[in-house]
Amino acid sequence: MKYIDIHCHLDFPDYGTDLAEVLERMKENEVGAITIGTDLESSRRAVKIAEEGEKNGNKIWACIGVHPEKPQGETLGNFQGLTLGFEEKEFEKLVVHPKVVAIGECGLDWFRIEPENIESERERQTKLFKQQIEFALKYNKPLMLHCREAYDDVLNILEVYKKAEGGDKLRGNAHFFAGNVEQAKRFLDLGFTMSFTGVVTFTHDYDEVIKYIPQDSIMSETDAPFVSPVPYRGKRNEPSFVIEIVKKLAEIRGESFEVLNGAIIKNAKVAFGGLLC
Ligand SMILES: [Zn+2]
Repeated sequence: MKYIDIHCHLDFPDYGTDLAEVLERMKENEVGAITIGTDLESSRRAVKIAEEGEKNGNKIWACIGVHPEKPQGETLGNFQGLTLGFEEKEFEKLVVHPKVVAIGECGLDWFRIEPENIESERERQTKLFKQQIEFALKYNKPLMLHCREAYDDVLNILEVYKKAEGGDKLRGNAHFFAGNVEQAKRFLDLGFTMSFTGVVTFTHDYDEVIKYIPQDSIMSETDAPFVSPVPYRGKRNEPSFVIEIVKKLAEIRGESFEVLNGAIIKNAKVAFGGLLC
């Protein structure tokens, strides 16, 4: 494995007709990936894809959990079979699978809440997030965080767990990091890494924070099928495109591509318990 995409959704219907070809290109490019569940059914599919990938020579692992966002409108198609709660008994059956390396994507998303539902929706998401933090601690797994317009609230919750029962067991990665330097510092203090997607190839909004994060705490991801990097914008994204993202991160940081990429592979192995080999 030469490259790692630590966050993609290979179980989404976007790959319904040509997943085999996507996986083939990952092999050709020596790209490994963690495919992320967004609900129970999606998590089951993620584990299956990782398991079958192994048989075909792909380097794929799975992350299991429940996305904070309630499906609505056009996003519904990506949340097939969504259950709004965290069904711990069912996730317990999945978490023991050797391909499962993290819990999530879980977190808080205040982006699209309808004004009349703010209180109940915040309460629902907070409960769902805490259930998954406790589950990750119980099974000693890192968290894959989804956080949108809610960084301080996510950090406040994590900091309380860190001081209480969490300790070194509480760890993880903030996916699609879009926070500021101050929030990045708080994640670093908690021992969390942060990953960046294809958006870094077409906006300078994150340059400052990309430069701020130490080399041992940065990660690469595609969030495929979403947000393709340049030069694939407008097309469906896939894990092989992560190479473009690492190139851009190296350019922004003023580091060599090989050195940064080597660090990212090492970071992924450390963060996901050395399971990624
Ligand atoms: Zn995702």
